[in-house]
Amino acid sequence: MRAQLLAQAKRLVVKIGSSLVASRDGGLRVAQIASIVSDLAQIHATNRQVVIVSSGAIVAGIQPLGLKAYPQSIPLKQAAAAVGQSRLIRAYEKSFEKTGDTVAQILLTHQDLADRKRFLNARHTLTSLLKYDVIPIINENDSVSVDEIRFGDNDSLAGQVAHLVDADLLVILSDVDGLFTADPRQQPSATLIPLVEKFTKAIEHTAGVSRSQESRGGMVTKIHAAKHVARFGVSTLLLNGEIQGLLPTVLQGKSGGTFFLPHISPLNSRKQWIAFTLRSKGQLQLDQGAVEALQQRGKSLLPSGILDVKGQFNAGDPVTCIDKKDREFAKGLVNYSAQILRDIKGRNTRDIQKQFGKREYEEVIHRDNMVLL
Ligand code: GLU
Repeated sequence: MRAQLLAQAKRLVVKIGSSLVASRDGGLRVAQIASIVSDLAQIHATNRQVVIVSSGAIVAGIQPLGLKAYPQSIPLKQAAAAVGQSRLIRAYEKSFEKTGDTVAQILLTHQDLADRKRFLNARHTLTSLLKYDVIPIINENDSVSVDEIRFGDNDSLAGQVAHLVDADLLVILSDVDGLFTADPRQQPSATLIPLVEKFTKAIEHTAGVSRSQESRGGMVTKIHAAKHVARFGVSTLLLNGEIQGLLPTVLQGKSGGTFFLPHISPLNSRKQWIAFTLRSKGQLQLDQGAVEALQQRGKSLLPSGILDVKGQFNAGDPVTCIDKKDREFAKGLVNYSAQILRDIKGRNTRDIQKQFGKREYEEVIHRDNMVLL
């Protein structure tokens, strides 16, 4: 299965971690960038499309700005990213020139993908670039991103890009060999997990104890990204990017890294966008009956099952549904504002009609706009 999915993957999103392309005291790792570029060019030449998501802007900006350490304040991070990003892209461009490939830089903020129209625009741009055989190199637009509009880490950005371009495979290159049963630095007996078929609690726990240097996310965000893309039918490969030639051989079926199998019944693009791209604006706490109706019987959410409404949101906003123990289990686009829901929660349709007249929608969240998490 692993070999087959890797062999069939035609459109790849390759995430490259900061530590692979830059170091805090030495600036850009030009030779290492050239090594990765040579592997990617080889893959590109064998009839596969490549979209790069590269970190490293902030780290690459540390040395030229004369900073002593990784910047902590937002303005300094933004300044370092502005200086580092242009150097980073120049290094990629120079290396890809040698292999005869054309690259394009795209910097995204979360808002570019949270708005469905802008999401589709970005998708068109990327699809056109791929049609013209260009290798897009994407990063978060760190210099203008403040917390509310951040992706936060590039593992999550790469996962969203995989959805954006409808990729077959997400490759995450970092300075570790893959997911281990424990932290290999502390437990030499730890072994590499070559295949993950299901995202169990044990796997997520294993990620918590594994390490990755420099990158903002570490192993936890990598597993989250893999879990998310699996929901829409994309497999993930975690691989050590320091080893030249490894990725092309692994794609041809050799062992290496950790491979995550995709979900068997993937979500469609719109549901995927609701589940993965949109950020929840509030929560609806549901009684047991409503939880079961949503989880087991594929029903829409009605006002009668709502116990509590948390947060402020408007009609059309994304909200999460939680059970009595505060566990999030569904997310969807709500038909009514928080204010209206506070009035109609817990009541049946006839009651609501009597007091408020006929409402436009019977459902609070229609099944078509809802995803189970
Ligand atoms: N966008 C950040 C950068 O280029 C990296 C974020 C991350 O490490 O995940 O420096």
